[in-house]
Amino acid sequence: MDVDKLNFIKKSFIDFNGKTEKVIIYRNRGETDFHFEFKCPKCGENNDFTSELKSEKRKIEGKNKEVYIFNCAKCGNTYSIERLKPSRVSSKK
Ligand SMILES: [Zn+2]
Repeated sequence: MDVDKLNFIKKSFIDFNGKTEKVIIYRNRGETDFHFEFKCPKCGENNDFTSELKSEKRKIEGKNKEVYIFNCAKCGNTYSIERLKPSRVSSKK
């Protein structure tokens, strides 16, 4: 991963049955697919693959939120992480 070439990066956490693992999603400038890097908390697979980034609107705690959806390449378990709005927007009340 070359930080100077990134045009998108999202770091977050995923969990399965109380086990939490880090996930990094990033894309390099000039690329159409995103890189997914995470250890699957369900099966322990070290995922490192490229794919399109899928997002979906969900209602969480009564609010409409957008989440990114991806799967473990080995066991197929689905994970989602919340797409956070820029902090300058959420700090306005
Ligand atoms: Zn897995």
